Amino acid sequence: MIESRDFDFENRIVAPEVIKQDSIDDIDVGLRPKMLSEYIGQTKAKENLSIYIEAAKKRGDVLDHVLLYGPPGLGKTTLSTIIAHEMGTNIRTTSGPAIEKPGDLAALLTNLQDGDVLFIDEIHRLSRAVEEVLYPALEDYSLDIIVGKGPAARSIRIDLNKFTLVGATTRVGQLTAPLRDRFGVVLRLELYSKEELCDIIMRSSVILGIPCDKGGAMELASRSRGTPRIANRFLKRARDYAEVMGNGRLTRDIVKIALDRMEVDELGLDNLDRRFLKMIINGYNGGPVGLETLAAAIGEEAVTLEDVCEPYLLQLGFLARTKSGRCATDLAYNHLGITKQQSK
Ligand code: ADP
Repeated sequence: MIESRDFDFENRIVAPEVIKQDSIDDIDVGLRPKMLSEYIGQTKAKENLSIYIEAAKKRGDVLDHVLLYGPPGLGKTTLSTIIAHEMGTNIRTTSGPAIEKPGDLAALLTNLQDGDVLFIDEIHRLSRAVEEVLYPALEDYSLDIIVGKGPAARSIRIDLNKFTLVGATTRVGQLTAPLRDRFGVVLRLELYSKEELCDIIMRSSVILGIPCDKGGAMELASRSRGTPRIANRFLKRARDYAEVMGNGRLTRDIVKIALDRMEVDELGLDNLDRRFLKMIINGYNGGPVGLETLAAAIGEEAVTLEDVCEPYLLQLGFLARTKSGRCATDLAYNHLGITKQQSK
């Protein structure tokens, strides 16, 4: 029953994170919306944010610190650049793991101009020592620096320019309470509806100059797992099929051919997702089965399955997590065309 560990995660076409074959031309060709009015979906977060931005601008003040959380690929980085654009300021971008020492953060902070946005991606990965430096910076725009060592050591305070920290995380639960409490604005990004993704794809197709029918865009949208990054990736890959196998236009039929060839099904499941579900159904009679056992049977790491397969399967309602292990639901049986009696 053991299969080889041959799955290529770095190029997994349905991964919500950036993968090897994604290019940064997303940014260069302007796929990223620049203003709130161009940012599709996330109505609640957008409405709140626009009020806070307007109020801060009216007061001539900086925007309060903003925490954005939600799964990868939903537009957190995009939103942070929009905040800077809307406020008419510059943005400095970094990430939690990139700030190794307190001195790295101090250097970043002391270089910020008045009103600048500092974007820290994966902010839950900041070390404790770095976090300690961040607290006074967030609260009263100052840095406490220790000079000297031993009994001669003393602390000096440096004033910083006022700035807005935008923190992004996929794991809000891993943020320490003191850090979380220092964000005045906390916004959660949700997975996008099919209609919203369709609008995003139509917008991207115009920017990239890819002729695309509404039907083609809808078909791409329904397989994009609620995630704009995946939708844009599919759009670019499907273009190749349209150019070689059709007349260059993305119709529903061409999109179906393209995504079927990429082994992405109507709901956006790939081979790994299907292998995972089939193992529970055929190997363990639908479960419950422990994740470690499943992982060993499939030949993947348990943490990998937990991070890359489970979130979307849980969200579709195909998978149930119980105390005694993972179970495949009736919806999963239906989707895979397996009747319950067949498996034993
Ligand atoms: P995250 O930081 O949450 O991982 P990004 O901001 O990098 O996500 O967004 C991934 C891609 O999806 C970007 O290239 C961007 O063009 C696109 N995108 C995200 N949200 C939207 C949106 N609301 N409207 C249009 N495009 C979007």
